[in-house]
Amino acid sequence: MSKGGLLVLSGPSGAGKSTIIKNASSAIGNFYFSISCTTRAPREGEVHGREYFFLTKEEFEEDIKKGNFLEYAMVHGHYYGTSMKPIFQALDENKLVIFDIDVQGHRLLREKFGKKLVSCFITPPTLTILKERLYSRCSDDEATIKKRLTNAKEEIKALGEYDFLIINDDLKQATKEFIAIANAARNRYSQEELEAFQNEWFHG
Ligand code: ADP
Ligand code: 5GP
Repeated sequence: MSKGGLLVLSGPSGAGKSTIIKNASSAIGNFYFSISCTTRAPREGEVHGREYFFLTKEEFEEDIKKGNFLEYAMVHGHYYGTSMKPIFQALDENKLVIFDIDVQGHRLLREKFGKKLVSCFITPPTLTILKERLYSRCSDDEATIKKRLTNAKEEIKALGEYDFLIINDDLKQATKEFIAIANAARNRYSQEELEAFQNEWFHG
């Protein structure tokens, strides 16, 4: 049985997703963070191939045509997408694959992977706190922050579609909750995996 798993994290930009993943990284074992492709410009300090693969619109659309994406969506006016190949390679290597994708991406992956997928929505306790964190992160201009806040008000409506909710008030506590969910995600299996295990169990 594969000990690989699929864990989707969604939540408004500024929710604390990257901070939590970074803080949890030494406690969640063998994992692969899915590096998405995007057509948005890199923020200060972001490196091509580390946070994202930064592509032009033409390059991204070429990849769509070739069927290279497991899922993709338009978020805040830019393309974001998950390339297929590294995900299946990581699963073959029994890794937990962690995705930081939006609610549209979650819906598409849920359709593809069914119950194998574990999903978690992360948000600060209130819209006001989200706003404060986006301003204090100092990585986006005023117009971008406004767009992200408008988007957040829509995204929060999808809360009920997720398996878990982490309210990121105290960062240490939120990280602890995330570690528990990440470790549990390795024990979720697809219907096919469960049936294969049952067969082996009877005949083993
Ligand atoms: P995301 O990856 O979801 O866009 P970030 O991880 O970049 O969000 O977090 C947004 C900002 O909020 C960062 O400046 C981060 O340091 C800060 N932050 C994250 N969690 C907390 C928390 N619990 N309390 C205070 N600040 C936080
Ligand atoms: P940011 O620009 O703040 O890095 O990300 C903006 C939004 O795009 C976030 O909600 C993030 O989860 C989402 N996102 C990042 N990568 C992907 C992806 O590959 N697919 C989808 N559907 N959304 C993504």
